[in-house]
Amino acid sequence: MGEEMKNTNNSECPSDLYDKFCASNSCTEILELFDRMCESLSIAPPRIGGADHHGFYHRFKSLLRTTKSMSLWTKLDKRASESVYADGNACSKNKVLIIGAGPCGLRMAIECAFLGAKVVLVEKRPQATRNNVLHLWTYVPYDLKALGAKEFYPRFCTGGIDHISIRQLQSILLKTALLLGVEVHINTTFNDIIEPTDDAHHGFRADISPVDSPVSQFDFDVLIGADGKRNTLKGFKRKGARGKLAIAITCNFLNKRTTRESLVQEKGGFNYLYSLQMFKDLNDKTGIYLENFVYYKADTHYFVMTAHKKSLLKKGVLKEEHADTSKLLGRDNVVYEYLVSYAKEAANEMTEYKIPDLEFALNHYGREDVAMFDFTSFFTAEHSSRVIERHGHKLLVGIVGDSLQEPFWPSGSGCAKGILGVLDAAYMVKQWGDGVDPLQILATKESVFRMFLSAWTSHSLFSKPQEFTIDPKTRYKNCETDFLKPKDVKYLYDDGTGV
Ligand code: FAD
Repeated sequence: MGEEMKNTNNSECPSDLYDKFCASNSCTEILELFDRMCESLSIAPPRIGGADHHGFYHRFKSLLRTTKSMSLWTKLDKRASESVYADGNACSKNKVLIIGAGPCGLRMAIECAFLGAKVVLVEKRPQATRNNVLHLWTYVPYDLKALGAKEFYPRFCTGGIDHISIRQLQSILLKTALLLGVEVHINTTFNDIIEPTDDAHHGFRADISPVDSPVSQFDFDVLIGADGKRNTLKGFKRKGARGKLAIAITCNFLNKRTTRESLVQEKGGFNYLYSLQMFKDLNDKTGIYLENFVYYKADTHYFVMTAHKKSLLKKGVLKEEHADTSKLLGRDNVVYEYLVSYAKEAANEMTEYKIPDLEFALNHYGREDVAMFDFTSFFTAEHSSRVIERHGHKLLVGIVGDSLQEPFWPSGSGCAKGILGVLDAAYMVKQWGDGVDPLQILATKESVFRMFLSAWTSHSLFSKPQEFTIDPKTRYKNCETDFLKPKDVKYLYDDGTGV
């Protein structure tokens, strides 16, 4: 097929820019290339107080018709045609602010764009830098391929085990979100909600840093917290469960893509219970005592393992024993050089030294990409949604991703459950756009949240991921969306009277 497109600004060729945009893995570069593409096509990207988001995707699509872009448009059009989006009119009057451009914030932005809402996303960092790799449950590759994962990253899910690096996933989703008309502001931090006052001529706004950000002027009626484990949004209590001490180490090494590297087998998950002898032999030989171990080959060679405290003390990684885990793993108690050598030795041993010359990838501090995390306790949000009403303005608030439930990385729950929670939240936004009674929306959402919480493996889901939509009934087995009634969720409706 021939390449056909309008280039009203002849300085740059849109198809060349699009190729660069597809290949880029840097958040700032993706944003810059997107703006340059828009300029070369003489199309204004959606902006607060500027160009409208309605119809942006269709205008862009009609101007950029290369062989490469056509395959993406076909996929996005198919997704957009799902009846649940009502041709992009389901939420065409709603304005959504999303906090955080992690995988879940970006995935949420895409759903809200399909629903037709004006979507603004703020991210406090300038770049996505995490090399770590996410294991994907069966349905996730279907979900991501339908959004152009293969177009932006042809290597996506070509190996034996489905996985993707966090950074790569963010890049893919950022590109799709931009093309669908989402407005993304990096280096922009959400601090708090600003409630409308009696005499204010605007609705709910956000306290944003920097203060002169245009996002400070954005009135929204939906706010989604996708800002990770630390969750800045107030009003969402958590409950924690403390388990047995679990110390995870992650590390990334350069993948030089040599033939020898390509022959090394990935290891989807060795657990102590099933591989007792192997872990015992490793301990006898090296003093490294692991409880489980995962190795994925992606843009990097990625390893995640849980290590016994005793062996970390014995190998000098931890200086002293502490009953308090935050002190045990505190910066002052960890000898970074020994952590580096512990991780490298474990990676070499567990892959039988088959990866030649393991060389660390660098993290965003320019140091060996190795980190140690505490998985001893897990938190879960007590609820996933609320509504605030002030002076006639109503705000729907939800949380998704790691803010909703802390993931256990070796099981891949972060991404898999993260996207499930996003789809649940998108359904809630759709109901808001449809004008359903707010208490009913909250009751449905919290009923769905119960199913979300109990979905710990992909077995809790239907087996045809191609049929998954934002409607929970298409995804969860035994879906009970009316388990809770409006009277049960009154405490989630805050009208300022404190009742
Ligand atoms: P995140 O990916 O944490 O994204 C949240 C985003 O919100 C961040 O970009 C953050 O900068 C931004 N943000 C936070 N506060 C604000 C604010 N106030 N204003 C604006 N922006 C804000 N999972 C695995 O399965 N395997 C791993 O090896 C693994 N490694 C990880 C390493 C690190 C350092 C972290 C933080 C997480 C890791 N995870 C891993 C978890 C995994 O990344 C998440 O489960 C997955 O990315 C979904 O998370 P999310 O989108 O909810 O949040």
